[in-house]
Amino acid sequence: MPIKNVMEDFVEGNMKDVLHMYPECCRCHACRDDIMSIALNHLEPKYVSTEKGGVFAKLVALDPMEKVVIIQEIAKAVQIVAKSPRHPEEEKILPDSTDVKKKK
Ligand SMILES: [Zn+2]
Repeated sequence: MPIKNVMEDFVEGNMKDVLHMYPECCRCHACRDDIMSIALNHLEPKYVSTEKGGVFAKLVALDPMEKVVIIQEIAKAVQIVAKSPRHPEEEKILPDSTDVKKKK
């Protein structure tokens, strides 16, 4: 039976919105993985043991208070990574103006 931490889905799902508020933060794969792992280390894991883990995750009603905590932890992680990405400044991937305008 596969075990899945649905918190990963919650963090991943909310990360984009948080990154929108921090245009100075790099959004390359390495930095996004860093943000996810930092945030997840500060959040209680929520494991489900179901083969439909992926589907289940979307059905789990996210407590509004819990969502606030998740967003706070993502924001903290984004600030850490924005300040010290694991690669040189010039390799940062930043949103261009069209990307910011699109807002999705
Ligand atoms: Zn990066």
